[in-house]
Amino acid sequence: MTNSDKPVRIVIVGGGVAGMALATRLGESLGRTGRASVTLVDKSFAHVWKPILHCFAAGTARNPNDRISFLSQASRHHFEFWPGEIQALDRTAKRLTLAPITSPDGAQVLGERTLDYDAMILAIGSRANDFGTPGVAEHCLFIDNLVEARAFNDRFRAEQLRAFGNAQGLDIAIVGGGATGTQLAAELHKALDLVALYSFGRTPPPLNITLLEAGPRILPAFPESVSAAAVKELQAIGVTVRTGSQVSGADAEGLILKDGSRVRATLRVWAAGVKAPEVTTRMGDLTLSRTGQIEVAPNLQSRADASIFAVGDCACITDDPVAPTAQAARQQALHLIRHFPAWIEGKAIPPFRFRNRGAVVALGDYNGWGAFPGGAVFGGGWLRGLSARLGHIMLYRQHQFAVFGVARGLLAWFVDWLESFVRPSVRLD
Ligand SMILES: Cc1cc2nc3c(=O)[nH]c(=O)nc-3n(C[C@H](O)[C@H](O)[C@H](O)COP(=O)(O)OP(=O)(O)OC[C@H]3O[C@@H](n4cnc5c(N)ncnc54)[C@H](O)[C@@H]3O)c2cc1C
Repeated sequence: MTNSDKPVRIVIVGGGVAGMALATRLGESLGRTGRASVTLVDKSFAHVWKPILHCFAAGTARNPNDRISFLSQASRHHFEFWPGEIQALDRTAKRLTLAPITSPDGAQVLGERTLDYDAMILAIGSRANDFGTPGVAEHCLFIDNLVEARAFNDRFRAEQLRAFGNAQGLDIAIVGGGATGTQLAAELHKALDLVALYSFGRTPPPLNITLLEAGPRILPAFPESVSAAAVKELQAIGVTVRTGSQVSGADAEGLILKDGSRVRATLRVWAAGVKAPEVTTRMGDLTLSRTGQIEVAPNLQSRADASIFAVGDCACITDDPVAPTAQAARQQALHLIRHFPAWIEGKAIPPFRFRNRGAVVALGDYNGWGAFPGGAVFGGGWLRGLSARLGHIMLYRQHQFAVFGVARGLLAWFVDWLESFVRPSVRLD
């Protein structure tokens, strides 16, 4: 890429599943040796493994331990961290602009800043897609990042208190029967069960959760047998599952379905669809997919600009699109980690090939399943999904090992285990 003696300036935007791995490993391979300066930019200060956001929403994730400070990670792995939200891109000048940072009371902490790059990797993830459905933006909650998941949890705890205090039921409607919505339904149920152990009398008020899916079945990425077993499990804990139910609107009372019927709900969560963050539309003439993802060639290089790469949920490999999952994001990050050092010396990056290693879904502590690419399924049955739930936990720990290293990863796991004797297993304050 360059022959000059100056280190190549690599900027990675987004420190999620893909970006955190990239910054850590490129910092080790290129930053440590001075061959490149590696800078990570993220709009928040701490990394969270997005597939556990529904646990933050339910309050069953232990907040301090499940976040990894970007600053601390940067200081250990030879990269720089800049807090800020990318808001514009000047591709001619190879300069990105970061939005001002404000404090919670609205006061400006840092003004707009610019950052120059020689190569940029965009890893800014995705959001749920409400497809412009009327009333959804105003009346539904989203759990696409930690701020939203915690805001949901604040509302959930307030409504729990109201329900316990008034001995009345709590109605929650979740739109989207994919892994996010389905796992959230079970996790909220588990949270209410746990809260009842600590407070207000031992009988929790009825929690009426309705899971709405427009398609013919929930968990469409899994074999039909898993979808059917998950419905059975959810129904057993009292969740109403409605498939073939397209939501056409939302208001303060609940959701309106396409057939004109209504689902009353105090809390309404939108967990359907996927689209890229809106900022991709402000990146000059980068070519975008229908849902705003940056179109990339098979080697993950932008079709419009050879110095820009995109990975994970915000990228669309036009020749061979892959579903936006943590597994795909991680594999794409590993591909660039392997080939970037040669690329900055002028070698081409080979095409990325996705290897489907299967998927795991866990319904709180109730059950779980895993599916291998050939259609084989494990979990469920008499083991009550113990093996699949362990599989889900292992995926998270594997991610922690990748980010922390094995020794610190094991230590973090040990600390979590010790903490389970000291702290309540659900957020109560
Ligand atoms: C509740 C939930 C459960 C899920 N469960 C599973 C599962 O079981 N299995 C699975 O494979 N997948 C699951 N997924 C999907 C999976 O989390 C994503 O596919 C994966 O996180 C994508 O990784 P990424 O690196 O592309 O983006 P992310 O991990 O989302 O990271 C994006 C990063 O970019 C930052 N960012 C965003 N916009 C900007 C900006 N403008 N400027 C600066 N920084 C920005 C964000 O702060 C974030 O750190 C789940 C998702 C959710 C929400």
